[in-house]
Amino acid sequence: MNSVRAKKHLGQHFLKDQQIAKKIAESLTSNVPDTVLEIGPGMGVLTQFLLQNQRFETSVVEIDTESVIYLQKHFPQLEGRIITGDFLKMNLANLFDKPFAIIGNFPYNISSQILFKIIEHRDKVPEMVGMFQKEVAERVASKHGNKTYGILSVLLQAFYTIEYLFTVHENVFDPPPKVKSGVIRITRNSTTNLPCNEALFFRIVKTGFNQRRKTLSNSLKSILLNLKPEDEIFRKRPEQLNVQEFIELTLKVEKLLEEKI
Ligand code: SAH
Repeated sequence: MNSVRAKKHLGQHFLKDQQIAKKIAESLTSNVPDTVLEIGPGMGVLTQFLLQNQRFETSVVEIDTESVIYLQKHFPQLEGRIITGDFLKMNLANLFDKPFAIIGNFPYNISSQILFKIIEHRDKVPEMVGMFQKEVAERVASKHGNKTYGILSVLLQAFYTIEYLFTVHENVFDPPPKVKSGVIRITRNSTTNLPCNEALFFRIVKTGFNQRRKTLSNSLKSILLNLKPEDEIFRKRPEQLNVQEFIELTLKVEKLLEEKI
């Protein structure tokens, strides 16, 4: 078999440019753990450079059987470290017995879900380097006050430092996607627990941005019920709040709900 036939429903756009692949593989920092998991290796354009790094113990997860057969044939050294299946369905908690880095030129149709899964398992994943649709990469890195600032920006920035590394043109893929791509690196910050109710924080961020043009006192009605908060933070819109302010907002909501009881 010479190459894998690109399947649209699996978000397959194979990177052709070796230099860019190398640059992505080399974007993992030196602090990264030895265990590296690549999501969606396809024909292994990134994998080959990960395997060249003696320090890494690289495993891959690939949903496409045709790609898996290709990898088995071309990368015999991956034996026992190819997981065939859907990354989104994997249980990351018992995958490895130690923390691991995630890397990939990700399937764009599931990029948000990959990021949500990383947030959920943040204590297992100290670092991720990934290529996304440029717009998603920018959104993740976006700071408060920007139009692109949203749920993923806040939730990721609460636990990770985000760096937008570089943009990749569509013509270096086969087949070319419709949009440009962006590579980001996220590294776990020192926050272990938020100083507020975490479940409520997640709920407030999601609910607030679901109606991003409304003020928080309006968009959070389902949480506040008939409470009428006085504090001026509730007169703001979600995109005006940084992570710290979302934490303060959560603490204020907690207090209001407690007073009500
Ligand atoms: N990394 C390769 C392929 C990128 S295309 C390259 O840069 O050329 C995205 C890859 O993700 C494809 O190989 C596709 O089969 C795989 N993929 C899609 N959905 C997946 C999922 N849910 N779990 C694991 N792999 C997936």
